[in-house]
Amino acid sequence: MSDGTAAGSVLRGLGASITDLATLYTDVHSHPELSMQERRTARVAAARLRAAGFEVTEGVGNTGVVGLLRNGEGPTVMLRADMDALPVKEETGLAYASTVTATDAQGNETPVMHACGHDIHVTWLVGACALMAGARDSWKGTLMAVFQPAEETAAGAQAMIDDGLFERFPRPDVILGQHVMPLPAGMIASQAGVITSAGDSFQIRMFGRGAHGSMPQASIDPVVMAASTVLRLQTIVSREVGPTDAAVVTVGALQAGTKENVIPDEATIKLNVRTFDEGVRNRVLEAITRIVNAEAQASGAPRPPEITPLDHYDLVRNDEHATKVIRDAFHAHFGDARVIHTGPASASEDFGSFGTEWGVPSVFWFIGGVDPDTYARAEQDGRLSEIPTNHNPKFAPVIHPTLETGVETLVVASCAWLAA
Ligand SMILES: [Zn+2]
Ligand SMILES: [Zn+2]
Repeated sequence: MSDGTAAGSVLRGLGASITDLATLYTDVHSHPELSMQERRTARVAAARLRAAGFEVTEGVGNTGVVGLLRNGEGPTVMLRADMDALPVKEETGLAYASTVTATDAQGNETPVMHACGHDIHVTWLVGACALMAGARDSWKGTLMAVFQPAEETAAGAQAMIDDGLFERFPRPDVILGQHVMPLPAGMIASQAGVITSAGDSFQIRMFGRGAHGSMPQASIDPVVMAASTVLRLQTIVSREVGPTDAAVVTVGALQAGTKENVIPDEATIKLNVRTFDEGVRNRVLEAITRIVNAEAQASGAPRPPEITPLDHYDLVRNDEHATKVIRDAFHAHFGDARVIHTGPASASEDFGSFGTEWGVPSVFWFIGGVDPDTYARAEQDGRLSEIPTNHNPKFAPVIHPTLETGVETLVVASCAWLAA
């Protein structure tokens, strides 16, 4: 199946297109759009696909775009990129930094930044599609490009599926996706099996009884209740999850009260959970429910807390066989030094929904975006944790060779199925 020469001839056009792709990348970066508002990005992607000769369908799952390039008999390969940005104020200081603000789903004005790298994902996919379209003699089959909205809210893949993705488009033989990560630029990391964690977010409202700050005996203080809950939640990972298992429990928001001498009557906690195993996930979620209810009870809360799920991401599991096909192709094309093995990342993705729900093997991998010298120096000085990660206001992948690498991986992986 794998044939390095097909990818080689498709990629002959990469050098000539890289300046244009870099311009596209900085343009998308400086025009970030929040989840389910990706109208400009979708238009840009659709126009690029049409120019390359794809049949294009827009508005799939709100702002999603699907492009098909039918090129004779052969397998169908689906390539997926996500398009949305985050409510983060950019602090990269780059010439092409975002100054955009937008209105979020709650009606609040917020700064917007491509802090997760979905701008480079869009550019990679546009670049790979154009190169594949320009070298149709080198491969056979159907290439299906999917630009997905709202990865960051776990809503986009499902929205496309609910809008008939599986009925309206051909069922692929394999589904491929990739994400830029804080690894050295030029590096590619993957593994068979679990590649990203399950993610679960909750909002918890804890109820007390408000009173004057000088009369605590008249109150049931939700501030103390919430504070105690936050501390006790930390013991789930340290005391209830086995040392060889992994989990993350992060309280990312804690809100109560408005004034120093008023005891409020409720507190809100927002928390995020990452797990890599269904059994561990169940145990952690049960522990959260138990602790939250018990702490409310310990305070004498007038009513039980309200626990509302905010979003859920399934584990992303890479198909064993398809991963081997792709890793072999990567090793052959990039050489062993650039293709590394990675454990599952404690990041979550809704990419997995496409393969799981369609019954199609899927593979997801990571591409480094950190300047290799910066990375090597940080590693030497034990300062790797200081490199801005995805979602950080200073997250800034270097354009080269990150851009080239992600276009190459998509072409190499596609040709592992489609080589003529
Ligand atoms: Zn993200
Ligand atoms: Zn992301």
